[in-house]
Amino acid sequence: MAGEKRPRTLVLLSMGYDSLSTWHQLGRPSAVHFDVGSCYTRPERARYEKLRTSFPQLLPVQDLSWLGANEESDAWVPLRNLLMTVHAAALGFNDIVMSAPADWASDKRLMFTLTTTLAMRVAQPGVGYRVRRPFSHWTKAKLIAATPAALLEEFAYSCYEGASLPCGRCSACGRATIAHLAAGREPPTPPPPGLSFREFTDLRRGSANGSRASQVARMHPGEWLYVPLRGWELLRAWNAYRKRQDSRWR
Ligand SMILES: [Zn+2]
Repeated sequence: MAGEKRPRTLVLLSMGYDSLSTWHQLGRPSAVHFDVGSCYTRPERARYEKLRTSFPQLLPVQDLSWLGANEESDAWVPLRNLLMTVHAAALGFNDIVMSAPADWASDKRLMFTLTTTLAMRVAQPGVGYRVRRPFSHWTKAKLIAATPAALLEEFAYSCYEGASLPCGRCSACGRATIAHLAAGREPPTPPPPGLSFREFTDLRRGSANGSRASQVARMHPGEWLYVPLRGWELLRAWNAYRKRQDSRWR
């Protein structure tokens, strides 16, 4: 069919900071949210439904809630991204966009997007399938800084605890706090006062769950080069944190 290879873009929108920012940077194309039945499904889904009322290019929520039974203790759901990618393509899109700045998960890496692209091109030649991560070289702080604060404040959700408001203690909340401070933005949850530099950087590991150990276990040895936050961004976040502390005592 003529024009079959024309890109029909669909962003996988989890409603975290990375995916909302990715969707915005691409000019807010079509997007879809998958209910994967995880412990943080409800607040994510509620935010997506709310966003969808203003953006008709957002597809209805797709149900993969049966996957929730496979959720591991660090909130990782095996094969989730593989299922979502193929499902998204089968909805009639050939340009599937994932957001994965510096993500530790094996199913968000370059090898994943290359091999899923290849598998779909083999399975259905002529459609020009592509799975990509256009901002994989950006940090979370850079994505946040390039996205309107109002969009993120109203719609983004990134917390492993799954309450309607983020807990401020888990590793997802910690990473969001540091990235916002590095981006010169107000963090979604206030960081605890009086932290040392070491304690501040440890916010990325979280205190509410043991996610760090298993995340590290899932990294390839070479992934240590894979920096989730540039050193200067961490210092900028630390300086912003210190400034907040100072102004509190004035
Ligand atoms: Zn949290």
